[in-house]
Amino acid sequence: MSHRIVVVGHGMVGHRFLADLAAHRLEGTRTTVLGDEPHPAYNRILLPDVLLGRSDLAGLTLPETPGVRLLRGRRAATIDRLRGVVVDSTGEEHPFDTLVLALGADPVFPTVDGVVGADGNPLPGVAALRTWDDAHRVRSAAEEGARVVVMGGGVLGVEAAVALAAAGSEVTVVHRGSTPLDRQFDADSGAVVRAGLADLGITTLVDVRVSGVERRRDGTLASVRLTDERHIPADLLLVAIGVRPRTRLAEEADLGVRNGILVNDSCRTDDPAIYAIGDCARTPRGCSGLVGPGWEQARVLAHHLAERISGRSRPRPVLGADGGVFRVKAEGLEAVTMGEFPDDEFTPGAARVLSLTDPAGRRRVRLAVADGLLVGATCVGDPQVAADLTVAFDSRTPVPDDPAALLARPLAGASAPASVVDLPETAVVCRCNAVTKSAITAAVAAGADTAEAVANATRASTGCGSCTSDVCRLVSALGEAGGSRSLDRVTVA
Ligand SMILES: Cc1cc2nc3c(=O)[nH]c(=O)nc-3n(C[C@H](O)[C@H](O)[C@H](O)COP(=O)(O)OP(=O)(O)OC[C@H]3O[C@@H](n4cnc5c(N)ncnc54)[C@H](O)[C@@H]3O)c2cc1C
Repeated sequence: MSHRIVVVGHGMVGHRFLADLAAHRLEGTRTTVLGDEPHPAYNRILLPDVLLGRSDLAGLTLPETPGVRLLRGRRAATIDRLRGVVVDSTGEEHPFDTLVLALGADPVFPTVDGVVGADGNPLPGVAALRTWDDAHRVRSAAEEGARVVVMGGGVLGVEAAVALAAAGSEVTVVHRGSTPLDRQFDADSGAVVRAGLADLGITTLVDVRVSGVERRRDGTLASVRLTDERHIPADLLLVAIGVRPRTRLAEEADLGVRNGILVNDSCRTDDPAIYAIGDCARTPRGCSGLVGPGWEQARVLAHHLAERISGRSRPRPVLGADGGVFRVKAEGLEAVTMGEFPDDEFTPGAARVLSLTDPAGRRRVRLAVADGLLVGATCVGDPQVAADLTVAFDSRTPVPDDPAALLARPLAGASAPASVVDLPETAVVCRCNAVTKSAITAAVAAGADTAEAVANATRASTGCGSCTSDVCRLVSALGEAGGSRSLDRVTVA
């Protein structure tokens, strides 16, 4: 009898798991997927582009995995562990030998009056940005000239604010910390980010919270009230204060849950037939809320199941992105952070920390160096320096004797910007998918002659998309270097 796999959730990690499992070419398995969104799987990370009007659903859609029974718009309602069955919202039963939960996370809404209804859903004039439907709703509400208050100055809040301002909205960010992006960046970097947001026409109010909203007689939103008693006129309140792993289905099935579905290193819950991956799962390393670790879990689980189901050992998966570099994806606002800084840079033996602060130039660079290597860096407002630092961090290049040289590019006789074409073959071009330059070179050599073909062959540029221009540049440079025939001779590391 065939092995029945049921996957609940067809988001970025559930979708990737299906592709990874298919790559093992297992015989005798039957896979059913329940996804409660009515759409095909799509790249959620690029939803801010939808606010800009730059992407439609087709542009974000991820390729379907053949040979899978995919039920869209179908919610898993209960898990009957005794019978090994998932019951969906239509009452249909889906028996499983292995169940994979990839349920994602829900946006968190504040517990202040007038924001959410009794059912927990946002009231008119209030939205989050988690799904395609959310993005569509926000885009229609935030038409040109609309007044939008973004609650939360973290990465998602900043990315959404920049996109909405570029689309013509009047945007105010309300942040409870003293500088935006304060979870990833130090206070001076955050201050530069705040000034950069002001340059884009965005007001950032700090050290303050939303305490409620005022509505007109017809129920539409009139203004947002702050804890300092200010009232900000608003047509839309966009809430971006974090996410919470979706765990209810697991909780109701009596699986272990603590701020996430508890799993071990193989992504297994306390039921040997049930696994959890992605934003809903809490591994021994915690919950990340990022796609890179979720994709890694998908790969590890596909490998684990392939061995378990086939009874044969298989090549271990190459584990991917180190997750060490984080980039804010907002046009006109360059902000990158990588690695770690010491808690106290004055402690003897701590990494050496250097910084450059140039508020008027909207620049701030901070580095940590230990044992001759770059171990941490943040860079705001200088894409060239950010690119150089990323290469030095990734490739563990020894830093100069005086690491201050890394803080800025010399103005006179500046060397050409670090181009992807000049990087070593081992350099990682697509961080989300851990695709190296050599893998792209190999794909081009095998006949992939467009960026799209390279994306299909290697997955490069299918995550946050920030490497798309590098992939295009590389494909074109490799093509110019002599076409795919001469590329056959390129050594692939
Ligand atoms: C605007 C935005 C920008 C982001 N930017 C970044 C970034 O730059 N870098 C980064 O690493 N991460 C980013 N993230 C986070 C990233 O998108 C998530 O980490 C990733 O989507 C997690 O994938 P997942 O499959 O676990 O969850 P999801 O992609 O949320 O998918 C879960 C799916 O399961 C479905 N589902 C839930 N319950 C059920 C049920 N009972 N039955 C059936 N289906 C169900 C949901 O509807 C959903 O379709 C961003 C997220 C957003 C919203």
